[in-house]
Amino acid sequence: WEPDEFVGNGEAVLAFIGDYFAGIRDLPVSPTVDPKTLSAKIDTEVPQVGEDFTAILKDTQSLIVPYLTHWNHPRFHAYFSNTGSLPGVLADTVSSALNVNAMLWKSSPAASALEKTVLRWMAGMLGIAPGNDGVLVNGASLATLYALTAARETVVGLDVRERGLTGYGRRLRLYTSDQAHSSVDKAAIVLGIGRENVVRVPADDGYSMRGAALAAAVQADLSAGHQPFAVVATAGTTAVAADDEIDAIADVCRQYFLWLHVDAAYGGFWRLAGSGAEAAADLSRADSVVANPHKVLYAPMEVTALYCRHRDALPNVFRLVPEYLRTSPDDGVVDYMNYSPQLGRSFRALKLWWIIRSFGVQGLANRLQRSIDMARWLRSAAGSDPDWQVPVDSTYPLVCLRYVPRGLRRRYEPAPVPLSRIASLNAGVLDAVNASGAAFLSHAVLRDGYVLRVSIGNIRTEPSDIEALWAQLRMSAEQVWDDQCA
Ligand code: PLP
Repeated sequence: WEPDEFVGNGEAVLAFIGDYFAGIRDLPVSPTVDPKTLSAKIDTEVPQVGEDFTAILKDTQSLIVPYLTHWNHPRFHAYFSNTGSLPGVLADTVSSALNVNAMLWKSSPAASALEKTVLRWMAGMLGIAPGNDGVLVNGASLATLYALTAARETVVGLDVRERGLTGYGRRLRLYTSDQAHSSVDKAAIVLGIGRENVVRVPADDGYSMRGAALAAAVQADLSAGHQPFAVVATAGTTAVAADDEIDAIADVCRQYFLWLHVDAAYGGFWRLAGSGAEAAADLSRADSVVANPHKVLYAPMEVTALYCRHRDALPNVFRLVPEYLRTSPDDGVVDYMNYSPQLGRSFRALKLWWIIRSFGVQGLANRLQRSIDMARWLRSAAGSDPDWQVPVDSTYPLVCLRYVPRGLRRRYEPAPVPLSRIASLNAGVLDAVNASGAAFLSHAVLRDGYVLRVSIGNIRTEPSDIEALWAQLRMSAEQVWDDQCA
């Protein structure tokens, strides 16, 4: 493209993005399309000659956008709902245009300096000392893997980096709760520890891992001659957004010389909001922490902050400098390629800089508090409806609820309704709500059965969206129940 053409196409793209956000409320949150039909539309032969951009943009509008599930939609409430906020969207565009590779200070001075600055800003938001080593990576799953790699090297003192695990006789044991995210198991797989050596400590009735239960598991392993090395505690678990008992867990880690990694992928930044701050777990005692701006801070995918309290623990495993990347050392500079296995790195710091400057910490806090307030409203509405249950509370804006109508309960009285019956009814409700296009939810299976999960975190969600969602939930639930009774 010539520069003129670029500007013309760029204006068309900006108009396209503007229209998309202006009209997002009118789109179904999730499409109904079968995979074969979609593939038939999209899976064309590779073009041999360049095509006109107008056609490419038109196809993006007609073949891609209608068949996406819209994570930007104000009634997207599945998983952990997030937002690509507009400053972040534009910053990603500029970052692509600059096409900086933030691997070395020399290869990207301002990008490296900015990464250090936004990491310091976010450390302040998370209550972590600014002197922590930090790095921006693509997601919490890989951040946890990197942290545990550093933990293994530091705690076990094996020099695994040079020698590998060959000949090491003891089982390395990693502890986490039975509620922790699957990324902990994935890290154990990649590290060669094996899932068998991930000890899933049973959480308490509030889905929180307690220090005492952890200590018992560690003691049992020591008696069996195993080698405990790290604990992954969670702030904001995936199913119900519970916090582990992080202070007591930190005490156990100190007693047994274990590395404490806190997965605050979801829970980290909610402490900015007033009510989130009151409830927030102290992250300052963790050896490493991960928190996701792409879940909570309105950053478009993909950006996660990984912090490590031990200076150089990350570079001690990941620094490996081939001749062609050698640079003369400069005081105070950071070569971010030394903090993870990733060499070529995009300029992730820019979007965080733009977002934090555009909203300010106070603006972010106010928006987060709005989500917490809307979740409180929904929890209270569902909790006071005799046909609904809210089996677990959370300080975060994640509402778990299930439909157990009085008619169903009467059928089984005095026995409780079988869990499988509640699951099939509520799975039907989930499908009906999602098929309506009016909202998009996900589910979890708790100890006392199936729940619908409503995650409220999108920057555009208004109280009227949550009221509409609650109306939709009741309508779909009654419909599914009537159909099942018919
Ligand atoms: N940790 C928790 C508690 C999560 O809920 C998730 C994803 O939902 C992850 C880690 C993984 O995050 P990412 O998608 O950034 O790898």
